Amino acid sequence: MEMGTSYVCPSCGKANLVLAENPIFLTLYCPRCGAHSSISKRSVIRGYVDYENGVFRWREVMGYIYASIATIGQKG
Ligand SMILES: [Zn+2]
Repeated sequence: MEMGTSYVCPSCGKANLVLAENPIFLTLYCPRCGAHSSISKRSVIRGYVDYENGVFRWREVMGYIYASIATIGQKG
């Protein structure tokens, strides 16, 4: 499954990132320049689901993946 996001690619700045999902990973990638970053679903569940309050901290997950791409972009 893939869906567009409102996050602009931090690498090229010219396209919105696409969130792709497979059974193991969530991946955010840029269809224009190919910058991408992934987080395993296991990490998402372990780090971003607050079972006590029944909250999935979705925005933090996206922020984490986005920051990863931004970091990669800075290297180039
Ligand atoms: Zn890009």
